[in-house]
Amino acid sequence: MKKTLKDYKFKNKTVLVRVDFNVPMKDGKVTNDNRVNAALPTIEYLLDNDAKVVLFSHLGKIKKEEDLKKNSLMPVAELLSKKLKKPVKFVNSIEGHELEEKINKMKPTEVVLFENTRFADITNSDGTINLEAKRESKNDSTLGKYWSSLGDIFVNDAFGTAHREHASNVGIASYIKNSCLGFLVEKEVAMLEKCINNPQSPFVAIIGGAKVSDKINVIQNLLKVADKILIGGGMAYTFFKAKGIETGNSLVEKDRIDIATELLKNSNGKIILPIDSAASASFANDKPIFSADQNIDVNLMGLDIGPKSIELFKKELEGAKTVVWNGPMGVFEFSNYAAGTKAVCKSISELAGAFTVIGGGDSAAAAIQLGFEDKFTHISTGGGASLEFMEGKILPGIDSIQNK
Ligand code: AMP
Repeated sequence: MKKTLKDYKFKNKTVLVRVDFNVPMKDGKVTNDNRVNAALPTIEYLLDNDAKVVLFSHLGKIKKEEDLKKNSLMPVAELLSKKLKKPVKFVNSIEGHELEEKINKMKPTEVVLFENTRFADITNSDGTINLEAKRESKNDSTLGKYWSSLGDIFVNDAFGTAHREHASNVGIASYIKNSCLGFLVEKEVAMLEKCINNPQSPFVAIIGGAKVSDKINVIQNLLKVADKILIGGGMAYTFFKAKGIETGNSLVEKDRIDIATELLKNSNGKIILPIDSAASASFANDKPIFSADQNIDVNLMGLDIGPKSIELFKKELEGAKTVVWNGPMGVFEFSNYAAGTKAVCKSISELAGAFTVIGGGDSAAAAIQLGFEDKFTHISTGGGASLEFMEGKILPGIDSIQNK
């Protein structure tokens, strides 16, 4: 068991909190504040307990010099300040004298947010540009050690990067004496663990998205614990191909047909594929043409599951006690091909007394966009991280935190 916030006294301590403020931004404004809201319980708890709270996060990928301007965390400091109803001091650097001085002068219940940790990916410690530096994302030990020296206790509350071994999570945790999980990561782990290690039966998993290659390990791991796996999205067509069904111009990963065959063979009938599709002549938001059965016309591509599959999936979900959903059922970005994703989302939300978890990424975004946010037991804040968790992998960002 990993240490949690309840294992420490925070009064007068300088607490380094790795949050996930990797929020979508347009014209310098945060366009979706879900991740900021998700970090509030930990921040507020630390403030209530008289800590000096030092926050940091990455924001996007930093590859070019102009990314340094575009991906500043300053707008998040302003937003957070409104939410906390108190000043959040923003430090526009990630290391050096100014940051150290601001932290040294902090009083209990004050909040500092410093700049995007990934700025270290293209800068040296003296601030000069070095496009190959990768100090954050390659877990540079000097940087991890330096950041760890700035505080007394490290709290990892960034689930979205828990599958990465970076200086701002694993690096700091390796050098600091005291560390624990924040409330958000603690909750994510508890929810996902319940699905994977201790699911109440019947357990139905729904896996979609573009490619089988991204989800092979998840399917393999879920086959051990789930009663059924419903497969939708582009990845269904590689399974169709494996069964000798006509897929037309649909997305098929030729080099994954063998593994799809293997998964079907070893699934004991647990894998359930769509029985029809909404198809189009091109990858565009054209009026859907519905296939009569699984076969897709040679000139068409399947872009969503069809109405019969929607009914089938709804029926397969009936009576489920545990449901995990990861990946859209079609190209939901096109309004004409969003019906499958919407219907699955609705079917899950209507299950009475079921433990329902959405594994981050596109499916989480779709559920929130469709207004189903409160209808699930848990919507994960980490796409890649929740996927790796469901694959049965150990997440380094969590593993590096002290045990109880
Ligand atoms: P993933 O990141 O693997 O969950 O995949 C999400 C993406 O899969 C979305 O952008 C969808 O547009 C895409 N997708 C879902 N179904 C299909 C399909 N039938 N053909 C092509 N792309 C699809």
